[in-house]
Amino acid sequence: MTPKFSVHVAKENLKFSAAHFIAYAGFREPLHGHNYQVGVYLEGGLASTGYVIDFGLIKKLTKEIVDRLDEHTIIPANSDCLTIEGPADGQLRVRYENDEFVFPAHDVRLLPIVHSSAEELARYIWNQLTDALRTRDALAQVTVIEISVAEGPGQSAIYRSGISALKFP
Ligand code: ZN
Repeated sequence: MTPKFSVHVAKENLKFSAAHFIAYAGFREPLHGHNYQVGVYLEGGLASTGYVIDFGLIKKLTKEIVDRLDEHTIIPANSDCLTIEGPADGQLRVRYENDEFVFPAHDVRLLPIVHSSAEELARYIWNQLTDALRTRDALAQVTVIEISVAEGPGQSAIYRSGISALKFP
C-alpha cells in the first residue's frame, strides 16, 4: 500500500459569523447566529515538492469561501418548507407557514442546500473548496478531503469524501 500523508489546517481566521435558522416541515428555529469555525483535513500522496498540497493555497481558498459567508444570513435555496421570493426591489422574502422574513438581498447568501445545518454547510464548503482546487490543478496528490464546521466550541459536523471517484467534466 502506498504511504499516505495527511494535512490539517485549522486556522483561527477560517471562521465566519452568520445568521440562520433550521427549518423542516413542522419545525422552525428562531433566527439566530453562530461564530462558525472551519477546519480542512486532506489525505494523499507526496508530490515531488515534498508536499501533499501547498498549505498556503488551502488557507487562501478556504478563507475566500468563508469570507463570502461572513456577516450574512444563510438561506437554504433548496429547502422543502421555505418559500423564497425575489430578490424584488432589493428584498428577498422568505416564508415559512404563516411567518415571513424580509431581508435586504445583499445581506443574504442563498446557498444550494436543503437545510443550513453544520453538516450541509460542511458539504457546501467541501464542494466550493474542491472546485477551487481543481480549477488550479492542485488535486493531483489528494485522495480525501474532509471539512469540519463547528457552530461553537466542541460541537462540529464533518463532511468527508474521496475525490478520485468524481467525474471530471
Ligand atoms: Zn444555529
